[in-house]
Amino acid sequence: MTHNLPAAVAVIGAGTMGNGIAQTFASCGVKTTMVDVKQEFLDRGLATIHKSLGKFVEKGTLTADVAERAKGLITTTTDLGVLAGVDLCVEAVTENLDVKTRIFQTADATMKPAAILASNTSSISITVLAARTKRADRVVGMHFMNPVPLMKLVELIRGNDTSDATAQAVEGWARALGKVPVLANDYPGFVANRILMPMINEAAFALMEGVATREAIDEIMKLGMNHPMGPLTLADFIGLDVCVSILDVMKEGLGDDKYRACPLLRRLVAAGHLGRKTKRGFYDYTQAK
Ligand code: NAD
Repeated sequence: MTHNLPAAVAVIGAGTMGNGIAQTFASCGVKTTMVDVKQEFLDRGLATIHKSLGKFVEKGTLTADVAERAKGLITTTTDLGVLAGVDLCVEAVTENLDVKTRIFQTADATMKPAAILASNTSSISITVLAARTKRADRVVGMHFMNPVPLMKLVELIRGNDTSDATAQAVEGWARALGKVPVLANDYPGFVANRILMPMINEAAFALMEGVATREAIDEIMKLGMNHPMGPLTLADFIGLDVCVSILDVMKEGLGDDKYRACPLLRRLVAAGHLGRKTKRGFYDYTQAK
């Protein structure tokens, strides 16, 4: 079955995920507005999109025409008033319940009654966010993977009161974006992080206990399990602070100490070594290009 995409979409947050989500919609011909708190963040997000579209054209996976059309379809603003005109809003701001709640309440008050409000959260409860709006049936989790333009999966999360119509609509839109939507229910960490984070955490424990070197741990998981990268390398990509926050949400929400973050992960975060974004994490990237 083919599905039309929404006519107009807003993506809130122009960071790592937000600009990738905006690029993905615009590449499929959707009028897309990126919203952030400062114009400089929007400019940075837009520059990342232009660079990424350029790489797709170089590789021949996108035509220059489509890339140009995509650029023309993206506008930016710091004014949430733009939400009044969209059919779908995908929130991709910082992983913080209070910040997301404020956005959800403003979005709910501004958007058309039929419009759908989605969150790209990694771990925050969709049910909790939905309950803070008056449209719980039209709130859903659309968990894109990083880097969004390349990764096929969209984990779709149904909150307690997400309607069948909403779930079907976003499933169809995800397919129309060329993604593969897979449905999960709303429990801490959903599926992707529920399984990934304990693996990363266990790799950190193995390193802390001296079971093997970081390189050996990554190599064993790459070659032995056919993973494209080892868990410590992946953690550095995701951000060690993000890993700790997700583990904390799972420990709290599932009430099980088995999700406690490894002390070595916490120590690296305390030292400010958050992974690639700070040029140090499990590995040192200060010499990397
Ligand atoms: P990021 O820090 O790169 O970007 C967040 C952006 O949100 C920033 O540009 C910030 O200025 C903006 N923002 C903060 N408060 C705002 C507000 N009130 N209004 C508008 N914009 C605001 O973060 P990210 O890595 O893109 O993560 C965004 C969301 O996606 C989080 O919920 C995260 O858990 C989730 N996520 C991240 C990844 C990943 O690999 N980084 C993967 C999947 C999901």
